[in-house]
Amino acid sequence: MIRAKYGSALFFLTALIIVQGISHAGTESGNGTDNLRPEDGSAWFLGEKPIEYCYEKSPGFTLDKAQIESALSEAFADWFSYLRSARIFEKAAKNGTPFSASATLLSSCRGAELKFLFGLSQDTQVSDGKTVGFYRDLYDDPLAFAARTRYSTESGRGEGFVWFSSDKPLLTLPNALLAVVKHEIGHILGCGHVPGTIMDKALAASLNAADGASITRIDQRNRLVFDWLLPFHVSGALGAHDYPPSPGHTFQNLVGRTPQGEPRAEVISNPDKSSVVLRVSDKLGTKDVPISIEWDPTVRRNRSIFDRGYPVFKAFRSGHPAFAQRNVGVVVYGSLRDASGNRHVVAIELNSNTYSSDGPIQLKYFLETEMRTLFRETLSL
Ligand SMILES: [Zn+2]
Repeated sequence: MIRAKYGSALFFLTALIIVQGISHAGTESGNGTDNLRPEDGSAWFLGEKPIEYCYEKSPGFTLDKAQIESALSEAFADWFSYLRSARIFEKAAKNGTPFSASATLLSSCRGAELKFLFGLSQDTQVSDGKTVGFYRDLYDDPLAFAARTRYSTESGRGEGFVWFSSDKPLLTLPNALLAVVKHEIGHILGCGHVPGTIMDKALAASLNAADGASITRIDQRNRLVFDWLLPFHVSGALGAHDYPPSPGHTFQNLVGRTPQGEPRAEVISNPDKSSVVLRVSDKLGTKDVPISIEWDPTVRRNRSIFDRGYPVFKAFRSGHPAFAQRNVGVVVYGSLRDASGNRHVVAIELNSNTYSSDGPIQLKYFLETEMRTLFRETLSL
């Protein structure tokens, strides 16, 4: 009956989906129009200055100060070390929007730009004059949520709070608290939901087994950031989910015959990255299709096609010379020859499609003058 005991956590999941829809992207609801501002869903704190945070705890919140402080400092430290090792800061800094890469706990919440509120009442005022309850009502019985109350696109600094419920037994498990704190800090760093990681929108469902430390790791079944420089070998599917050409059509194009059974695909890199191999197979055999990595000027004109989708870590700051919005998604270009010898330009998109159950690597190609999904990584969820 553990599931029943933690039933409220499942509502939290629904709430997160909705709120991510509000704060991140209209595409999640899928009607094609959105009126989101470019800074919505972006990191709260850009610039060199440390994030100055504080916390307040209601007497009814069951974990003590030492446990709370340790969860907060461990969560920040782990994120910053992850972002350093994934070279997010380098990439972001090159793009002119360095993320704040350190955090300082203040002894009082006066002047703090980020407040963690453990079990505080609905009437608590937050910095925009609204109450915790105002934001909480955007969710359905949340376990926790992060709300940015202000953001200056000039300075790249915001204000906001993270609220934790005091009546959820789940949060009395130290690893569960750490996992939830880490998830919310991920949003503060401009990260959306990524399946199979700490940023999984279904994280709360995994917390039932939170006695293990694995739930608190950033990378879990999936990795949050795909690093092109490391060797990789990923499994996936040919073609797109929902529009032609079908996987069978793509297989036919690459192999020159119809597939027998469900076609499979893998993408394998070599260490020097001068090429990667798209390996396609079916019941009758396997074919390796090399994709040579190159810059193709014909792609440049169509580059905006690749700029859709959502970055893993989104940062927005206006007034920067060339572009206001930056992300760490990467597109690598290459080309392949199909079964008839025709050359196709291929775009390898990394970390740009985080709102589906597809993984962080996708391949697209120009086919019949349109950009089509060639390969998408599939995650075992
Ligand atoms: Zn979330």
